[in-house]
Parts: sequence; C-alpha cells; structure tokens
Amino acid sequence: MLSYDLTDEQEILRKTIRDFAENEVRPIAHELDEKEEFSVELTQKMAELGLFGMFVSEEYGGSQMGYVAYIIAVEELARVDGSTAATVAAGNSLGIGPIYYFGNEEQKRTYLPALCSTESDQFRLAGFGLTEPDAGSDAGGTRTKAVQKSRDWIVNGSKIFITNSANSLTLVNTVQAVTGTREDGRKEYTCFLVPADANGFRSVAMHGKLMWRASNTGELYFDDCQVPQSAMLGKRGEGFHQMLQTLDGGRLSIAAMGLGCAQGALDLALQYAQDRRQFGKPISKFQAISFKLADMATEVEAARGLLYKACWLREQHRPFEKEAAMAKLYCSEVARRAVHSAVQIHGGYGLMKEYDVERLYRDQRLLEVGEGTSEIQRLVIARRIGC
Ligand SMILES: Cc1cc2nc3c(=O)[nH]c(=O)nc-3n(C[C@H](O)[C@H](O)[C@H](O)COP(=O)(O)OP(=O)(O)OC[C@H]3O[C@@H](n4cnc5c(N)ncnc54)[C@H](O)[C@@H]3O)c2cc1C
Repeated sequence: MLSYDLTDEQEILRKTIRDFAENEVRPIAHELDEKEEFSVELTQKMAELGLFGMFVSEEYGGSQMGYVAYIIAVEELARVDGSTAATVAAGNSLGIGPIYYFGNEEQKRTYLPALCSTESDQFRLAGFGLTEPDAGSDAGGTRTKAVQKSRDWIVNGSKIFITNSANSLTLVNTVQAVTGTREDGRKEYTCFLVPADANGFRSVAMHGKLMWRASNTGELYFDDCQVPQSAMLGKRGEGFHQMLQTLDGGRLSIAAMGLGCAQGALDLALQYAQDRRQFGKPISKFQAISFKLADMATEVEAARGLLYKACWLREQHRPFEKEAAMAKLYCSEVARRAVHSAVQIHGGYGLMKEYDVERLYRDQRLLEVGEGTSEIQRLVIARRIGC
C-alpha cells in the first residue's frame, strides 16, 4: 500500500537531529568554516548521538535503524551545514559501506565496532580512496598499483580529494589499486584496507576549499606501502565493482545533502522575507518574492519524493542505481536553484559571511561535482533508460 508517512522512530530521529544541528552545529559552523577547521570534538559528539553505523547491524556495533533513517540524518545536518553533513555522509556511505558490504568476517570485526562506536574515545573514521590526480570521472584510469610480494602487497601511487582520510580520527582507508591485467586485456582492480599507520603510507590534509571547509579532505601517498594479504577487500579483481556499488549508495547521501541544503535555504529565505520590510511591508508580500519561495518549496518536495523513493527501493533490496543517480542529479540541482534564490531574497546581506545563507550557497557547489559529476549522472541515467 502506498504510504508517505515516516515511522514514529524516523520522526523522532528527524527532530533529534534537527535540534542537534540547530543547537550544536549552527552556533560554531561559521567559525569552523572561517578557520577551515575540522572539528574532532563535533565529530565525536555526532558519534555519541549514533550517527555512524545507522544501517549497520547490531552485531558489528551499528544501530540498524535503516537507510531512510540515515538519509534523514544527513538531510537534517546539511540543512544547517554542509561540512558537518559531509563528515557523516562520507563516514557512513564511503567509510563504513565498503567494509560492511564487502569485508570478510575478520575485517568487519576489526574495523566496524570502532567506525560505528558511540563512545567518543573508541570512535574512528574511514576514508574511501578512489579519485587520483589523473583519474576522476574515469575511475578506470587508476594508476596506483599493488604488486604481490610473497604474502604481502606493495602499494605505490597516490589519491586526491579523499574525505575523512587525513585527521587524527582516521583509522583506515579503502583504496583501489591496479593488481594486474585481466584475460580480456583490461586492467584488474582490487581494493585494500590500508591502515592509517601502515608503513610507507602518509596522508596530508588539503586546504583552500571553496566549500565544505570544515570537513577533512586529504591526499594519500603510497610509497612502497606494505599491507598483508588479509588487507585485501573481498577477492582479487573485484575492486572496480565494489567501488561502483559503494558510489551508488554514496549518491543517495549526496542527494540528501542537496535536499537538506535546499530546505535550509528555503527556511532561511522564508524567515528573512517575513522579517525584512521594504516599501512599508514584509518583502514576502511582494509576488516576485513569494513566487520564488513557492517554487523553492515545490522543488524541495519533489526532490524529497525522488530521494525517499530511491532509499525505499534500496531498503526493499530492489535495483536503485538509476533512481540514485536521478536523486543525486536532481537534489543537487534543486539545491543550486534554492541557494541562488535564497541569496537573492536576502539582498546584500546574503552576500555577507555572517549570514548562514552565504555558506549554504558555497556548500551547494560541491554537490554537482562530488561522487560523480552531474554530467556523469546524466550518462548513468541515459544508459539505464536505453540510450
Ligand atoms: C571536497 C571533495 C571531496 C571528495 N571526496 C572524495 C572521496 O572521499 N573519495 C574519492 O574517491 N573522491 C572524492 N572526491 C573526488 C570527486 O569524486 C571527483 O572530484 C569527481 O568525481 C570528479 O572528478 P575530477 O575532479 O577528476 O573531474 P574530471 O573527471 O576531470 O571532470 C572534469 C569535467 O569533465 C566532465 N567529464 C568527465 N568525463 C566526462 C564524460 N565522459 N562525459 C561528459 N563529461 C565528462 C566532468 O563532468 C567535469 O565537468 C572529492 C572531491 C571533492 C572536491
């Protein structure tokens, strides 16, 4: 039966995360953004709240609340701050995801309890190392190589733009490397779980970002980095498939960030339009302004419907790749239109840093690039509809 109701548990979760975002994130978001500072303390608070491992079963330390619950959490954080939402989205979809879905029992028991922990002193993060300086949209262009040497693998190469990979909480990075050539002549890709303290590995935090300035982004360097056979994720040659499947899930969380960003822009703009008076009345009473708000509200609802449907398909274990790409594409573009209108409604004040809408305006920009650009989403959708 068709139902648009969230469960009581999901409604309570939304309220809890909204309160947290308003009370714990909003007051410090501007300062962290200005200083370009990743907050370990805020990340640990989110871990205490149970925001990592929401789709992971309890036996590995997760809360098993489900994918829709997780998406609601990301949406509510992004409504206030993109950096904070990015830490949670990447921590779950890209950090926990590949280990949970493709790891063997030993790997899950080694990493998941820390990645899902609600104890701040136990909690750790994982990164997802796919992108390289010369391999972005074309993930098949990976140059990082792993060569077998008796029971170990020697990794050489580098990764760039890796979220949550270069801070004191990082425990491990999932890394795709070329391990040989397949029978059909194409490259063979395999993923490895490279601990942050592995010999020959180092990570460097990247600075100077336009947006998500308080999220942690790193460059990874592998210089004869030695990892044991037990660090291989799944089987040799499965790396590319694992990475693409992880990105399908990641797209839902980027879509949630777009939806949250658009909702946040709408909420700020509506409040401002009701308070700001020109020509003797609130600017919300001018049709030019109220129609902008009406369009924003309509698009936000449409985006939410598309995203929640994709999450529902995923929870039903049905194919969701096309819908995930559609949700990511649409939510990030709705967010672009929403932040643009919200800044316009704020007039000159919207261009000043002390107004949160200015940060949302910048936060939005990444959503059309990260985890597959909008061009790549259109490519995925076009293929799925038979082009
Ligand atoms: C803040 C931040 C965090 C990130 N976090 C991670 C992470 O945690 N892990 C990770 O692995 N990566 C991460 N990324 C990398 C991100 O996924 C890539 O930047 C993205 O996939 C695009 O790759 P690129 O930057 O190399 O651009 P390119 O692939 O070089 O693309 C440049 C332009 O060409 C277009 N283009 C490329 N190929 C085609 C085509 N076939 N058809 C049409 N147009 C095309 C693109 O759409 C784009 O407009 C992050 C990036 C940023 C900025």
